[in-house]
Amino acid sequence: HHIVEVKGLHHTYPDGTLALRNISLRITHGESVAVIGANGAGKSTLLQHFNGYLTPTAGEIRIGDFPLTRETLPDIRRTVGMVFQNPDDQLFMPTVYDDVAFGPLNLGLPAGEVDERVRAALAKVGAVHLQGKPPYRLSGGEKKRVAIATVLSMSPDILVMDEPTNGLDPFARRQLMGLLREFHHTRIFTSHDLDMVLDLCERTIVLHEGEVKADGPTREIFADA
Ligand code: ADP
Ligand code: ADP
Repeated sequence: HHIVEVKGLHHTYPDGTLALRNISLRITHGESVAVIGANGAGKSTLLQHFNGYLTPTAGEIRIGDFPLTRETLPDIRRTVGMVFQNPDDQLFMPTVYDDVAFGPLNLGLPAGEVDERVRAALAKVGAVHLQGKPPYRLSGGEKKRVAIATVLSMSPDILVMDEPTNGLDPFARRQLMGLLREFHHTRIFTSHDLDMVLDLCERTIVLHEGEVKADGPTREIFADA
């Protein structure tokens, strides 16, 4: 059964830029999918449709049992964890701890479970020692790890990440790859890090000027490139 289904998706930005044209794809539960392509190909735009951050100009998106609409948006946001390219877009609380606790608190979970989830998520990204710090004081790589923890603490069924290794030092990159390897739910990410794609994604979708240019097993896609 498909956990993500996109049919005839078009996206035009308010300034007239046609960013996505007639995208159709299906992703199966548990798949690990890379979305690659040159700068401006439409990767970020596509990802931002998976959690309803952008609204299609035309076309349909279904996540699990929910067609993506205004009414289902809260369900979608609970199902899809989105790590934006720029961590500053998702860190806004006074401390790292508060940022990672924000999602689970919003779910209405009991305090003990919130605390457990925050500690587990921070441990996974190697950021327990940062919990009392204000996010704006962190380095770029530290912010990225904390942004990932804010999503992990929600236990999403689908993890969507825009350039997850961007700005990470080699050690943090390796740690993140280990974490992603152990995340057995559906994973979708954009990357210019082709070694990571080869290592972690069984399937690769290539975007070119807003269209799907290729979609298939990563090794075949890379052999043809
Ligand atoms: P990538 O994902 O390839 O690293 P970005 O998604 O950050 O790069 O940006 C891709 C292109 O989109 C760039 O040419 C950038 O200038 C452009 N872009 C990003 N945001 C906007 C915006 N708000 N308005 C116009 N162009 C934008
Ligand atoms: P990628 O992530 O592959 O680099 P994007 O999805 O960021 O590509 O961008 C796709 C196209 O849409 C590019 O031409 C980019 O300049 C444009 N774009 C991105 N964001 C905006 C925006 N907010 N307003 C106008 N154009 C945008």
